[in-house]
Amino acid sequence: MATLYLLTDDLRVEDNPALNLAAKADRLAILYCVDDSLFRTDRFGCRGMGRHRWRFLRESLQDLNQSLAELGQVLHLKEGDPRRILTEILNTGRFNQVIRTRGHDARSNTWWRVLAADFPSLDFVEVDSSTLYQQHQLEIEHFPQSFSAFRRALQNQSFRQSVQAPCRLPASVELDSSLVTAPSKCETPVGGSLAASTHLENYFRTGAASTYKETRNALQGQHYSTGVSSYLAHGCISPIQVYRRLSRYEEEIGRNESTHWILFELLWREFFRWYGEHHGDRLFDFSGIQGQRPLTSFYRERFLKWSTGQTPWSLINAAMHELNETGLLSNLARQIVASCLVNELGVDWRCGASYFAEQLIDYDACSNWGNWQYIAGVGADPRGGRHFNIEKQTEMFDPDGSYRSRWSGEPATAPLDSLDYYDWPVEQQAT
Ligand SMILES: Cc1cc2nc3c(=O)[nH]c(=O)nc-3n(C[C@H](O)[C@H](O)[C@H](O)COP(=O)(O)OP(=O)(O)OC[C@H]3O[C@@H](n4cnc5c(N)ncnc54)[C@H](O)[C@@H]3O)c2cc1C
Repeated sequence: MATLYLLTDDLRVEDNPALNLAAKADRLAILYCVDDSLFRTDRFGCRGMGRHRWRFLRESLQDLNQSLAELGQVLHLKEGDPRRILTEILNTGRFNQVIRTRGHDARSNTWWRVLAADFPSLDFVEVDSSTLYQQHQLEIEHFPQSFSAFRRALQNQSFRQSVQAPCRLPASVELDSSLVTAPSKCETPVGGSLAASTHLENYFRTGAASTYKETRNALQGQHYSTGVSSYLAHGCISPIQVYRRLSRYEEEIGRNESTHWILFELLWREFFRWYGEHHGDRLFDFSGIQGQRPLTSFYRERFLKWSTGQTPWSLINAAMHELNETGLLSNLARQIVASCLVNELGVDWRCGASYFAEQLIDYDACSNWGNWQYIAGVGADPRGGRHFNIEKQTEMFDPDGSYRSRWSGEPATAPLDSLDYYDWPVEQQAT
């Protein structure tokens, strides 16, 4: 009998406990399912994955394919509905075990649980490979209400131990699948674990970690933040690997508030992962985890103007142009454009979260929807949401206009809401 290892957001061989468990099997098939529903538009008109992330994902798969070949294995790729694909494979009766890295959001957990119920005689195993903590360390039933409470609750717990890549992998079970082909590497960041470790090394070599706290709120610039999110989102690198490199930096160069703050941010990622798992479908719910419906709606025209950078605010337009062109955006710009959509434009926050899902290379369901909820006031923010003053932020963070000019951030001249005969105020004339 054999094991099927299903890759998800763990596209690496180093420090991958799920792969290490799979390495113990007699025979092994390694599979990545490209969920084709991600290429269809959702009810907000957004696709689950746009061109930037798709390019990065293919590069990461290509890179992993090479690493697996060195360990005597093959990466199988199938496109379609993951549940249907796995059902077909498992119906062949060739596998007695299915392994994957633990999923943290309801969308990926639902079909996994249904599949496990469909094949009760098989062993379905989830391994904590994409987080700092392991599930048994979290009392999920009493999940902390806020990030601060989460940190306090776990402060005496240690992170999981890192593991080395297996020296060899079991013999391959053949599956009828397509080959992994990569696009040409012309855009940055380039996907894959090799690029991830090179990036991490370069970042720490510059010494920028010692000033991270002062620079992380910038809109642009070299090394203003670590830039590891895309690699973490696809699992080209693990948070433990980032943490270990950070600890080495602290030993060699010195620990300060900035280096501590990098760990602080990694813990935000951690918080949202377990938050997503705990709150299930509510991660995607209009009322969020608070159960309160925000006073927003779906204004198609406003949403379109926001997403294409045609609002009255030059900073918003510049940021949306940057997002659309690169698939990346600083944390500050994400917060400001999210606040603008919800507070200035009165648009349903889920439209923005869905749009980010399509555009972002580093899209991570828990971090994305969790952060959107936070800003929209339906999430874990004890202050009940964030409202950024766009003019003030522009003065503080782009005083010379260089960011706006780099991303063609002109304020739109047309009024935000078009006036046509539907909107024309018609007064009843007394006759
Ligand atoms: C509306 C909104 C949507 C977001 N969507 C995503 C997303 O889909 N994927 C994603 O990885 N991050 C998301 N973030 C968080 C954050 O903006 C990015 O992680 C960060 O900008 C990535 O750049 P970096 O790697 O240089 O981060 P750094 O500042 O160097 O931080 C290091 C790492 O800490 C984690 N981190 C930092 N800030 C946060 C945060 N607020 N929440 C969760 N983790 C954090 C990330 O893994 C990041 O790579 C979102 C933030 C907002 C406000």
